[in-house]
Formats: sequence, C-alpha cells, structure tokens
Amino acid sequence: MSDLLGRLRARGWRMTAQRRVVAEVLDGDHIHLTADEVLSRATARLPEISRATVYNALGELVSLGEVLEVVDGRAKRYDPNARPHHHLTCSACGTIRDVHPAGDPLDLLPAAERHGFQVTTAEITFRGLCPTCTPAPG
Ligand SMILES: [Zn+2]
Ligand SMILES: [Zn+2]
Repeated sequence: MSDLLGRLRARGWRMTAQRRVVAEVLDGDHIHLTADEVLSRATARLPEISRATVYNALGELVSLGEVLEVVDGRAKRYDPNARPHHHLTCSACGTIRDVHPAGDPLDLLPAAERHGFQVTTAEITFRGLCPTCTPAPG
C-alpha cells in the first residue's frame, strides 16, 4: 500500500470528511487516476462532496509532494506512490503499473547526450500490451 493516509496524518494534513475521502480514493498500489476519476469515486462514497474540494485537495497533495502528477500523453493522472519509480503502460487499455527497472536510469544517457545539463532525474515509460490485451497464441 502507498499508505497515503498514514503519511498525511503524520504531516498534520487537515483531514475533514471530504478531504479524507479524496485521500482514501487515491490510497493503494498502482493507482493512477485522472482528476475526473478521483471526483467520480469520491462522489460514490460521499455524494455531497464538491468538485472544488476534490480539485483543491488534489492540488495540495501534489504541492506537499505526497502525490505525483503523471502525464501519460492523454491525461494528467494522480499517483500516490511518492517514491521514485517508472511506469509500464498498456497501449491498448491504458492500464499503468509502477515498475522499478534494474540499475540507475540516469546511466542510460551518455555525457555526449547531456548537452551540458546537470541531469538529476529520469522518468521512463515502458509501453506494450498487458496480459488482458495480448492476443492468445495460435
Ligand atoms: Zn491492456
Ligand atoms: Zn506510478
């Protein structure tokens, strides 16, 4: 589990019923939800929750660094896994998994390709077909 709720409690994040639902919706493994998905899941749990509350809470969680924004080309997604990691994405259905490649991804970029930059981070997206979308052999 990402233990988002535990991390927010430890930081003293103001936890109203509405804000708690936003954190609960995001907590877990391999969670990469768009703002609209967070809103619809939060509304399912707490019908009176407002769009503004959900969007404000998301913005705060990102500023705190407890939730990462992941852009997958189509939409911005919210990811409660705040530790450095990379993504494995299904080109057909959009499923996203958190992955941890062997070695340091920064080593992939030789000095000649750094154009004088001090390179500090890298985010890699591996793409392919998930088991559900892979055609059965034969
Ligand atoms: Zn798939
Ligand atoms: Zn992720």
